[in-house]
Amino acid sequence: MLPPPLAFVHEPSPQRIVFGASALVRIAEEAERLNFSRIMVLTSPEQVPQGQAVAELLGWRAAGLFSEATMHTPVAVTERACVVARQKQIDGLVAIGGGSTVGLGKAVTLRTDLPQIAIPTTYAGSEMTDLIGQTADGRKVTERSPKIRPKTVIYDVDLTLSLSPMGSVLSGLNAIAHAAEALYSPDSNPITALMAEDGIRALAAALPAILTDPTERAGRSEALYGAWLCGSCLGSTTMGLHHKLCHVLGGAFNLPHAEMHSVLLPYSLAFNAVGAPGAMAAVTRAFQGRDPIIAIVDILAKSGARRSLSEIGMPADGVEATVRTVMEADFPNPRKVTAEALSAMLTTALHGETPDRAGFAAA
Ligand code: NAD
Repeated sequence: MLPPPLAFVHEPSPQRIVFGASALVRIAEEAERLNFSRIMVLTSPEQVPQGQAVAELLGWRAAGLFSEATMHTPVAVTERACVVARQKQIDGLVAIGGGSTVGLGKAVTLRTDLPQIAIPTTYAGSEMTDLIGQTADGRKVTERSPKIRPKTVIYDVDLTLSLSPMGSVLSGLNAIAHAAEALYSPDSNPITALMAEDGIRALAAALPAILTDPTERAGRSEALYGAWLCGSCLGSTTMGLHHKLCHVLGGAFNLPHAEMHSVLLPYSLAFNAVGAPGAMAAVTRAFQGRDPIIAIVDILAKSGARRSLSEIGMPADGVEATVRTVMEADFPNPRKVTAEALSAMLTTALHGETPDRAGFAAA
């Protein structure tokens, strides 16, 4: 039987993607395509050697290295980077690192209009979105702006080899969360659905392979490919309860980003399964017919990652305030969210208990 007639909007973003092992060697050529002649390389304090390697490859075009990228994009750091950019008459940014470093690049672009080349080294997906979350005075505020999408993204699998097996699993599950929510997003369309399912398929196969042999490039490459697709889904659709909860929890309790997504994902899927049977069927196909909730819990357990919100820093009395904030927020979700059901779900996740597939007391 044919599906019902289609109706959708799809707006592809004009980004150039360069993907492959050793793709980083093309950085000078890519900078030239964008007419960059005075480049500021951005990175985190931990990734200075990678930043220096990029500066070396850029040669005379490299005009500075700013290595203060920090989780949650603090405005104070961004402002320092903007001062340096002005002093050095920078005309282009190259960010190498995870979501925090790409986020710093976006925050600088927002204020200066400087274009960015992103070289992601995790699977967080920020390089494919027009979203930026910035923190000031303990509050994280998210906004969208088309100009902050990096012009070019270089995915070099070699740069992910240093990501620990557990770090790869946490980051990979963060990516899967983007695609899972894209599948039931109100602005999902046939293209995002294809990308989401294949992104999850790639990561579901790659993460166990990375745990088995972290030095094997095939698994790393497949994971990075999946991350690209999942990040594209995040950039093209509106996220639901899972991302809203992570935003609220991250802001309130400063929980580690990828770990928080990973701990929560099985609970979010169990919560929404009843409201999004089509999406769950796609996620199950992507996991080769395995129950995705069991498969994700299994991958997490094998990686040795922490499995409850309390273990990663959420206080036991934090549930009520989180439920209140989420209930006040506006976000799309395939299943109606009630305070009772959300409270049951969060309490279960707080203690790392088995996700309740029956719909958290069907409250
Ligand atoms: P991260 O960028 O904070 O990196 C975590 C740590 O891992 C850092 O110390 C980093 O230097 C290190 N690291 C990164 N790549 C490495 C590698 N290959 N080898 C060894 N160490 C490496 O972590 P993340 O999870 O990538 O990003 C999280 C941040 O990104 C959050 O602030 C989140 O809000 C943001 N984010 C934004 C979007 C968006 O669309 N705006 C999407 C996803 C995440």
